[in-house]
Amino acid sequence: MLQDKSLIERSIARLRKSLSREPYNLRLCLDSPEEEAVAARLALYIAAATKNNYILKRFADSESKNFSETLRKTPGIQNLNCKIEIGKDLGIIAKPAQDVVTGIINAAFKTPVAIKWTSYLRYAPPDPFWAMINRVVVKGWVILPLDDFERILEEAYEEQILRIASENELAVGRVSASIDMSLIEDLLRKYAQRPVNITKLSTEGPDPPCMKAILDALKAGENLPHAARFAIATYLLHKGWEVEQIVDLFRTSPDFNEKITRYQVQHIAGQVGGRKEYAVPNCETMNSWGLCPTNLGCGVKNPLQYGRRVAIKKSN
Ligand code: SF4
Repeated sequence: MLQDKSLIERSIARLRKSLSREPYNLRLCLDSPEEEAVAARLALYIAAATKNNYILKRFADSESKNFSETLRKTPGIQNLNCKIEIGKDLGIIAKPAQDVVTGIINAAFKTPVAIKWTSYLRYAPPDPFWAMINRVVVKGWVILPLDDFERILEEAYEEQILRIASENELAVGRVSASIDMSLIEDLLRKYAQRPVNITKLSTEGPDPPCMKAILDALKAGENLPHAARFAIATYLLHKGWEVEQIVDLFRTSPDFNEKITRYQVQHIAGQVGGRKEYAVPNCETMNSWGLCPTNLGCGVKNPLQYGRRVAIKKSN
């Protein structure tokens, strides 16, 4: 396999497309499924051989989105039982919702699926929208609309890709020794994780001590508690940052997961999920979360008021 020049070229092309998130060509998967599957596996090994976690995770994230796209658009697999079988291959226990519940709950969703709570908890994105408390649960089965079930399949598929890479270290090592990695030098330059220049991205006016402390911790690559991530995301969104800029800011976090981070920031911005834009927590709340280094000493009620207060003080 590693002597097959055209296969290697094809695999590198797949890696390139995945990393750049180019639109997926569904015909490729339909016309030559075996060849495409081999190229995808080799592309995964090449991604793992870079020894760059960010490249590997970006590849897995992009491939899982392609998988989702295929799942939603391939004519032969639109039957619900077929998707449940695909889920089974990924280790997800599910069945048509009518096998578990009847009546109004079933009627509330289009093509509802019942998924075992253990599978749900394992693959549901870590987000309030996906909290089990916000779901209909009947006798240990979580009832989901088909769209949400497909999202769970996407998460499971991504996890499977990462598992395959970690379970096949020997094959990855062979790839690393046999393939000229300089062929993907440009990809490494472009997509390997880089520290974010926070100074360059800073908003106008001084940031309050609480937000500055969070930004400094991010700069130092520290793992922040959820409350701190939430606070800085709301603050920067209100200062006019774009979702993608904030996602980039979190890249230095040791547990960075691009897909989850993007979803969470979009959720906070009110672009997905409950469509509610979250406010910046006020100072009392920040203090109760242990995130106010001045112990409410700035003379403002909300961190957003800090920059203006400093500007007014200066002009007096
Ligand atoms: S008083 Fe408010 S603005 Fe100042 S550090 Fe505390 S939370 Fe931040």
